[in-house]
Amino acid sequence: MNELITLSAAALADKLASGEVSAVELTQAHLDRISEVDGAVNAFLHVNTDEALQVAADVDKARAAGETLHTLAGVPIAIKDLIVTKGQPTTAGSKMLEGWMSPYDATVITRIRAARMPMLGKTNLDEFAMGSSTEHSAFGPTRNPWDLDRIPGGSGGGSAAAVAAFEAPLALGTDTGGSIRQPAAVTGSVGVKPTYGGVSRYGAIAMASSLDQIGPVSRTVLDAALLQEVIGGHDPRDSTSLTDPVGNLVEAARNGSVAGMRIGVIKELQGEGYESGVLARFNESLELLKDAGAEIVEVSCPNFKYALGAYYLIMPSEASSNLAKYDGVRYGLRALPADGPLTIERVMGATRAAGFGDEVKRRIILGTYALSAGYYDAYYGSAQKVRTLIQRDFDAAFAQADVLISPTSPNTAFKLGEKLDDPLAMYLNDVATIPANMAGVPGISIPGGLADGLPVGIQFLAPVREDARLYRAGAALERLLENKWGGPLLASAPVLGGVK
Ligand code: GLN
Repeated sequence: MNELITLSAAALADKLASGEVSAVELTQAHLDRISEVDGAVNAFLHVNTDEALQVAADVDKARAAGETLHTLAGVPIAIKDLIVTKGQPTTAGSKMLEGWMSPYDATVITRIRAARMPMLGKTNLDEFAMGSSTEHSAFGPTRNPWDLDRIPGGSGGGSAAAVAAFEAPLALGTDTGGSIRQPAAVTGSVGVKPTYGGVSRYGAIAMASSLDQIGPVSRTVLDAALLQEVIGGHDPRDSTSLTDPVGNLVEAARNGSVAGMRIGVIKELQGEGYESGVLARFNESLELLKDAGAEIVEVSCPNFKYALGAYYLIMPSEASSNLAKYDGVRYGLRALPADGPLTIERVMGATRAAGFGDEVKRRIILGTYALSAGYYDAYYGSAQKVRTLIQRDFDAAFAQADVLISPTSPNTAFKLGEKLDDPLAMYLNDVATIPANMAGVPGISIPGGLADGLPVGIQFLAPVREDARLYRAGAALERLLENKWGGPLLASAPVLGGVK
């Protein structure tokens, strides 16, 4: 095993800048790691070997020629397979798009290309990002590098597992209800859902457009900040894109501090339903933050208890509309009915029956029902009202605190198959992450230690556009915890028999 793959993206960038390693060497080390372990982990649906090495070789050439390069030039990255990429397949984890190639790049991909970061490939996910375990992928589950019998979270389990298994130093995810933060939590990595509109959604295959957000997955808070600065910023191709920047994230991550910061503990996101090991790590973090000079206050967000219910009306409603384009006519799979006339409705029916998995079908049925004429106000309309109440809870909480804190997920990684037949138990994984999507506020999950040998995530939330606060608080807690453990959490991981 090559030591290089254990380093942070920031450390790798330094080594590239000083000429100690070449981008080709670095990219090859990660490709080697992928060949070595991905048979067991299944984080990647596609490995982009030739193009990644070509980009790396071009970076080395440019550096040798004295060109000024982006800090992350030559640092490889993995991409969640919900984000479209020219020249690499995009499946969304679905048979519906198997073999499909996008004719264009997502804006975040255009920016990654501009920074000249080699793309290692596309990572596994729950079909169309619907799930919390990556078991709903049409291409087999991803496994958690901490314990291969356990789930890596979802929907972005592939991106989180790739980073946690040292197959990639950085990855992109998407977060509609927690799909960046919950996988980060259960794999011991860092995941950020930026402020809604902070990163362009152009080219992210839509799940629920008013909730979706692309964001970074990494092993350190600073690395996430470096990546968010590459992908973030205004994009005229996304009508919900914010026009002004969300602050200096890298500077905030480099100067992590909680001295004098008011940190609000959300009363409703702890206690019943949260594993005792998760709560123990959470309380330990609160103590560390207090000792470091933070003022810990309790805040109450009474409407958060309705967030999960309202999410499972709004998300399926928007998804049912977004997924209507998979009709067997425009692009993607076309399946023909076994017999009978070839009418458009029958081809559409056969295509959707063959192309979509059970979870996607379940949500389309739920969404079309919630949006149907007689029920629109009762379901979708009420859920939108709850959304307003959640926003008001956040406003009140942020009047008392600079950032809020909670466990990222109520539990650690569960066993594969354990919740597959129980959709409600699966949905409960996101109780603590969904409120942020409902209000558009940014959130970060950082590794908070282990419970029974499995990673626990700690979540910070900040007001809209205050992403920098997440990085400031996240970097501070990361340092406090590393001092306590004597190093980064993932360095102690039994990742596939140890990385050493
Ligand atoms: N697990 C949640 C769901 O299944 C969130 C998914 C996501 O953020 N993409 O809807």
